[in-house]
Amino acid sequence: MTQLVWLRRDLRLADNPALYHAAKAGPFIAVYVLDDESPKHHAYGGASRWWLHHSLTSLAKSLEAKGSRLILRRGEAVAELTKLAAETGATTIHANCHYEPWWLNAKRKLAKSLDLRLHHGNYLMVPGSITTGTGGQYKIYTPFSRAVRAEFPPRDELPAPESLAAPASWPASDALASWNLLPSKPDWAGGMRDFWQVGEDAAHARLEAWEADVDGYDDKRNLPSVDKVSRLSPHLHFGEISPIQIWHRFKDRQSEGWRTYEGELIWRDYSQNAILQFPAYATQNYRADFDRFPWRDPANDPAAARDFKAWKEGRTGYPIVDAGMRQLWQTGWMHNRVRMITASFLIKHLLIDWREGEKWFWDTLCDADYASNATNWQWTAGTGVDSNMFSRIMAPLSQSEKFDAARYIRTYVPELKGIDEPYVHDPEEFGRRPAGYPRKIVPHKAARERALAALKTIKQG
Ligand SMILES: Cc1cc2nc3c(=O)[nH]c(=O)nc-3n(C[C@H](O)[C@H](O)[C@H](O)COP(=O)(O)OP(=O)(O)OC[C@H]3O[C@@H](n4cnc5c(N)ncnc54)[C@H](O)[C@@H]3O)c2cc1C
Repeated sequence: MTQLVWLRRDLRLADNPALYHAAKAGPFIAVYVLDDESPKHHAYGGASRWWLHHSLTSLAKSLEAKGSRLILRRGEAVAELTKLAAETGATTIHANCHYEPWWLNAKRKLAKSLDLRLHHGNYLMVPGSITTGTGGQYKIYTPFSRAVRAEFPPRDELPAPESLAAPASWPASDALASWNLLPSKPDWAGGMRDFWQVGEDAAHARLEAWEADVDGYDDKRNLPSVDKVSRLSPHLHFGEISPIQIWHRFKDRQSEGWRTYEGELIWRDYSQNAILQFPAYATQNYRADFDRFPWRDPANDPAAARDFKAWKEGRTGYPIVDAGMRQLWQTGWMHNRVRMITASFLIKHLLIDWREGEKWFWDTLCDADYASNATNWQWTAGTGVDSNMFSRIMAPLSQSEKFDAARYIRTYVPELKGIDEPYVHDPEEFGRRPAGYPRKIVPHKAARERALAALKTIKQG
């Protein structure tokens, strides 16, 4: 009897437990369902859709090379899978676990009509399995990471299945092109095409190219001008590579660089644990006192709308913020240090609700991830369970100097190409602002005072 393998953010052949176990059991049909209904406001945004198109193309080719296929269906996932099962006579469906709230719902519904075999595929440790001495869930990263490390090693890596048995007949599949995942009018993806190679082979090529940098990761990871982070995030998000594969590749390294990098992979696990405990983490403040915070609302306040637009377009007059926002628009990715600076700027300098930023990143990042995006926005805002304090307000101009961002700024803000250091970090202050580059939309000191005054209103309430 043929089985189904439901693929989501696990678009790879190697170390794919669902695929591995199905292939061992017999013929199977691998299916991807484009479900824009179940995630509601978290249906994939533009940059993710671009990535998804290329990732599915690559996976389909790899399956075809082994005599199999990728079946594409569009609609509410549970309904489509139930239909496909009826068409093909399959009663068993294999899937890797995903923890977004809409996938947890789908799992419950699907298990009512099919023999659903769930596998642990995309995280170092099974989300929810790392518990405190009293059996509770960790809320704070540092003790969580200590407990994760105490449980290491993670599971073994699985090989790609050697052969993939085809079913007696293939069901119909949508044509990928009919999903219109790629932008056309206008085609804004040129920068992304230049910046990325997509797919399982590309993920491994990227890991290989970056391998020489892992030992220096702790020194260099905060420097946006230096290309020394792994840039594996979209590959990890779409599951073209698993953290287990990365971990086994580096596990024998003794360097601080690897230990720090391992800590980032644990942050990724931590984010999944956060959404398991707080499924609405992307839409609700964890700290309820922030529900009273006097945010400036772009929907009702023209000045806030103008500031929000300037932030999105990278025209705030703060070079490091503008470079980050333009890198995001061009490439679908932003360096982590700059994500923190731009997020902090939106929330604290512009007093705009972190959820507006979360939505913009969701649409524009090709690594947009429900758990990691929410966890990091709430961390920056000071509204989360494990958070930076709201009152710690990053000064973008000194961050820019401290982390040596001059080359990064010149790359992404062409108006500032000819400006030397230190002026490039703050051309307006030094009287070097070129005519085409905007003045600061808000002065740093006044913005800081406004943010602290706003914070006081909820602390007194
Ligand atoms: C406001 C904000 C929003 C963010 N949104 C996302 C998002 O939607 N998706 C996403 O994958 N990351 C997000 N991050 C975390 C981080 O910025 C990216 O994971 C990282 O920049 C990706 O680049 P890299 O692969 O070179 O990372 P590296 O520095 O090479 O790290 C390796 C991997 O570890 C994981 N990782 C690293 N830092 C974090 C972190 N802080 N939280 C969770 N996982 C981490 C990622 O999977 C990353 O690929 C966000 C950070 C901020 C401040």
